[in-house]
This record gives sequence, C-alpha cells and structure tokens, in this order.
Amino acid sequence: MNRVTEPFSCDVVVGEERLRFNVQPDGRLRANGRWTLRGDVVTLRVPRGMPSATVESIIKRIAARIQRSRARADRRTDHDLMQRAAQLNAQYFNNELTWHSIRWAENMHTRLGSCSNGGASDGDIRISTALRRYPSYVLDYVIAHELCHRKYPNHSAEFWAYLARFPHTERARGFLEGVAFAGGVSEPEID
Ligand SMILES: [Zn+2]
Repeated sequence: MNRVTEPFSCDVVVGEERLRFNVQPDGRLRANGRWTLRGDVVTLRVPRGMPSATVESIIKRIAARIQRSRARADRRTDHDLMQRAAQLNAQYFNNELTWHSIRWAENMHTRLGSCSNGGASDGDIRISTALRRYPSYVLDYVIAHELCHRKYPNHSAEFWAYLARFPHTERARGFLEGVAFAGGVSEPEID
C-alpha cells in the first residue's frame, strides 16, 4: 500500500477553477487531516504514513466542499445584484423599469455591462465581475445604465437625460474614464 511520507502538490479542477493542493505529512497528527484555503491554494496536513488512497479521497471531499461553497457564494452575489437593481429602480426610476435577470459575468473583457432587449434573452443584464473591485457608486452607475437601456435601448439624448436621475452618473463616468486612461481595463465600454 502506498503511503504519504513526503510533501507533494497536485492540482484539482473544480468547475471552471483550479485548486492547488499542497499536502504535508505531519507526524503530530493522529487520525484526521487539517486544511486551510488561501485563494486557490489548499494546504492540507495529514498524518504521516496515511494511505495515499485515503489522502486522495480527502482531497476529493475538500475540493467538492469548496466547489459547493463557491457556488453558494456566487448565487448569493447574483441575488445581491438583483436587490441592488431593485433598490436603484425604486429610488431613482419610480419602479418604471423591468428586467428578467441580472448576473455577474466573468468573461466580459471589454465591456462592464450589457443588457439584451428583445429575443429569447430579453431583459437579461450582465455585469462584469471586474466591477467588484470598483467603488460602489461606480457599480451602481453601471447597473443603473443597464436598467435604463430597458427603456431606451440606445445612447440617445433621452437615454442620458433619464439616466441622470441617478445622481452619481457624471462622477462615475469620470472615474471610468480615469480607469481607461490609466490602462486599468482595455476599454471600459458599457453597452
Ligand atoms: Zn449603454
């Protein structure tokens, strides 16, 4: 039977992410492994001499648990986005705007938000996860911008006048221009 006596590392793919496991045999541990997660790196200490098959099944269990926990967190943040949109709609737009869904999107490299009007995906709003790092008034601005496209699916004067009900519009646009100028994002377009 193979047993774990030396440290080793391995990668485990969970969903669309990759976790790195650093496994360290520890002579002070008796029966169970101990683990901590930092970013995508799991440090796992196991009793020295634990059978490799047991360590493998522990790694699988930890990976599944992290995946479940992350999936839960993602759902919660989409829910938070929905609540934020509802609050902006009530506070500034008299609850005039309707949409189907609003979600974080990972793969928006050149745009910070998008809103589909018409077709099978009508009313689906996507917000770039890049905005999680930005001030909340900037995130609110992008949400408000996409919501207003439900009423004006263009960048007409009427659109901008309506969006100006959101009081931080100019400030947020200035911030995003600054980010673009500093090269923080390739081109912070908002559709
Ligand atoms: Zn737009």
